[in-house]
Amino acid sequence: MKVTLIIGAGGVSRVVVHKCVQNAEVFGKIVLASRTLARCEEIKSELPNANIEVAQVDADSVEELVKLISTCRADIVINVALPYQDLTIMDACIATKVPYLDTANYEHPDEAKFEYKLQWERDDKFKEAGIMSLLGSGFDPGVTNVFCAYAQKHYFDEIHTIDIMDCNAGDHGYPFATNFNPEINLREVSANGRYWENGEWIETKPMQIMQVWDYPEIGEKDSYLLYHEEMESLVKHIKGLKRIRFFMTFGQSYLTHMKCLENVGMLGIKEVEHKGQKIVPMEFLKTLLPDPASLGSRTKGKTNIGIIAEGIKDGVRKKIYIYQVSDHEKCFKEVNSQAVSYTTGVPAMIGAKLMLEGKWNKQGVYNMEEFNPDIFMDELNKQGLPWQIKELDI
Ligand code: NDP
Repeated sequence: MKVTLIIGAGGVSRVVVHKCVQNAEVFGKIVLASRTLARCEEIKSELPNANIEVAQVDADSVEELVKLISTCRADIVINVALPYQDLTIMDACIATKVPYLDTANYEHPDEAKFEYKLQWERDDKFKEAGIMSLLGSGFDPGVTNVFCAYAQKHYFDEIHTIDIMDCNAGDHGYPFATNFNPEINLREVSANGRYWENGEWIETKPMQIMQVWDYPEIGEKDSYLLYHEEMESLVKHIKGLKRIRFFMTFGQSYLTHMKCLENVGMLGIKEVEHKGQKIVPMEFLKTLLPDPASLGSRTKGKTNIGIIAEGIKDGVRKKIYIYQVSDHEKCFKEVNSQAVSYTTGVPAMIGAKLMLEGKWNKQGVYNMEEFNPDIFMDELNKQGLPWQIKELDI
């Protein structure tokens, strides 16, 4: 029987565990390991009939990880802890020769800058170990990369522009909360924006560029340009690309709260002295904000994430929109999580399923668009994330 090791026991992990259990014939025994054992036990208790073991691990320690991976004889490691742990978990996978998958690229805790460099640099080591590493198998990155690969394969000879459009129209009833880890979310959103055009990265001020987009099943929403990690790999792998941008919707209340928190220094990631104690403002803010995992039961509304691609097919210009709509309440009913965790956890499970089944199988470090998108697209339809394609007027 296969053994699937899942590291991290937060919002995304809960979905991954539920979905792996739904596909138990592929994943076999689940070992759920995280920093806080009680959070693993809580997830396990939701699935009393499933074959799940729990364990405590500090994923910042390669030594502890190697011991865990070896003792549980894992066939795959699904990393749904935080981006800070990507490198240690990858190194432990190299040492034990066990395939690796994650949903977000590496970030150093002391610098709000995420990039694939250090993960891509491990390509040779993964090849030497004879194993695969799949990076960014969430929704964005993840499904958005697969949508691009699918558009390239079936709809275009050359794609010239891509806009990735991410809308969460969910309402949790709090004046301010983040839908996934607050620290990671606020670091991403408060950073300068960046997009890629004609071979160069162009930097913008946070929220400087906005467009209104009419999201099917949701309606028109202000969408702001952000830097997002999937662009770094897509510019390497999409043929003929001239421009790629990423947009995310934010309500006015979210933006006003964020600006205010930023202005008073609460988004700081460097230690400050407070009554003789050292604290990191952003970490303290995380303590105050609602736990994203607790938003599930209160969130209503939908998410819609997709890509708009424009380019040439047989000499004719064309434009298509591929998107996926999820409903927060429906997700909660199925796996006790809201749609942001659901839309991340399901693709993580699908990526791992294709790896275990040998359908996505290469040695080295890869991004999602480097594999056959068709089988992933089929799985999305089967596993709870059905998608649509529309041809748009130019
Ligand atoms: P949470 O904060 O809810 O969960 C993170 C989990 O990791 C927690 O259980 C935490 O433990 C555990 N953890 C943190 N540090 C360590 C450590 N040193 N050792 C062991 N366990 C540790 O985050 P989410 O579930 O919201 O997000 C999980 C990942 O998914 C993140 O990397 C995030 O960036 C990514 N993501 C990707 C998306 C995509 O579309 N690609 C979208 C949304 C998220 P503890 O319980 O003790 O705090």
